[in-house]
Amino acid sequence: MSVQDKLEAIFASVKRRNPGEDEFHQAVREVLDSVAPALRKHPEYAEAKIIERICEPERQIIFRVPWEDDRGEVHINRGFRVEFNSALGPYKGGLRFHPSVYLGIIKFLGFEQLFKNALTGMPIGGGKGGSDFDPKGRSEREIMRFCQSFMTELYRHIGEYTDVPAGDIGVGGREIGYLFGQYKRITNRYESGVLTGKGLSYGGAQVRREATGYGAVFFAEEMLRADGDSFDGKRVVVSGSGNVAIYAIEKVHQLGGTVVACSDSSGYVHDDKGINLEVLKEVKEVRRARIHEYVDALPHASFVPGGRLWDVPCQVAIPSATQNELTAADARTLIAGGCTIVVEGANMPTTPDAVRAFADARVRFAPGKAANAGGVAASALEMQQNASRDSWTFAHSEERLREIMRTIHARCYATADEYGMPGNYVAGANIEGFRLVAEAMLAHGLI
Ligand code: GLU
Repeated sequence: MSVQDKLEAIFASVKRRNPGEDEFHQAVREVLDSVAPALRKHPEYAEAKIIERICEPERQIIFRVPWEDDRGEVHINRGFRVEFNSALGPYKGGLRFHPSVYLGIIKFLGFEQLFKNALTGMPIGGGKGGSDFDPKGRSEREIMRFCQSFMTELYRHIGEYTDVPAGDIGVGGREIGYLFGQYKRITNRYESGVLTGKGLSYGGAQVRREATGYGAVFFAEEMLRADGDSFDGKRVVVSGSGNVAIYAIEKVHQLGGTVVACSDSSGYVHDDKGINLEVLKEVKEVRRARIHEYVDALPHASFVPGGRLWDVPCQVAIPSATQNELTAADARTLIAGGCTIVVEGANMPTTPDAVRAFADARVRFAPGKAANAGGVAASALEMQQNASRDSWTFAHSEERLREIMRTIHARCYATADEYGMPGNYVAGANIEGFRLVAEAMLAHGLI
């Protein structure tokens, strides 16, 4: 059987064994489409059935999360933790609280996480978890009760050497605090390294909060540098207005670019003077409000309800909201508007058709598993500081992050070159991530 036929057979079997999990299928397809050259070069990977083993999570945990709202009404949500692969280290990856969460979303995220974590060069395996709980409109106390109930089951599956969750959509510093408090209470252990994204007052690390957004922009900076260019004077559009988007905007502005639009699920804000971060942080981080309130504070900006922010012309686009948010039609609009670089701040925000449209138009495109690896890399730095009971300065932590992002860029770039696909960051990231995981799995024997 040819390598290509083998890959098709593996994909068919993944679909059969995981029915209805579209996002997981999409993430697997994207990796399988890239790794054929690596398999031809390393027949030992196919012999040991490395891909088949990688596509099957080591462990999948699904649990009931009962909780009571402020009126005393009982709710039941579903909790997940998919421990995908521990070849490179303890399972590592965030928790997502969002009503769209089901097993297929957690599996796609865990699968991506595995390669992303490998690319950081840090000793962390891949995992992901979450719940279909909707935090929108919930009070502080409801959020706390939910987090406590979620951890009351999760605690038995995690640990500094086993599985180390962090945040993702719907899980930020506040939720990590409640989860950590409950873990400590149940286990009677102050195990700092069991969760990352902790507050600075109890074992958190400088730059963790900023790391995903900053890291994506550092990656974009390297892409620009590879073309002899920089952020200076660039118009940039960043979708989303959560943790990733806010700190991506901050770093673009520090590097001399201007972010002219950002969004949330209600629509987008267009501000030609450049998004005012003080106002955006007040609306999104402090008040946890809808984005149109930005315009209440700064009437020169405009709010477009329900609109597509990719209509705003830019040279650099950083999709940082959620999966499959940027379609082929959006890609064509971006290309027509002069966009030459797209960097995924979120996980898999670009549909496969849109990725193809960018490739056809020779737009440089960086997949999330390389470009947004800064978040989890900073989590690994947090684990390192926790293990040595140390804490680093902001400047030192940011320098480490920048170095890691430069190295990821260089590795993806060099791998794409080595396999005869210069400038193809998708191939570079997938082959390099896969190779790192495969080598460790081979070394461990058939487990
Ligand atoms: N949720 C983030 C990601 O998608 C961070 C995970 C972590 O820090 O463990 O990479």
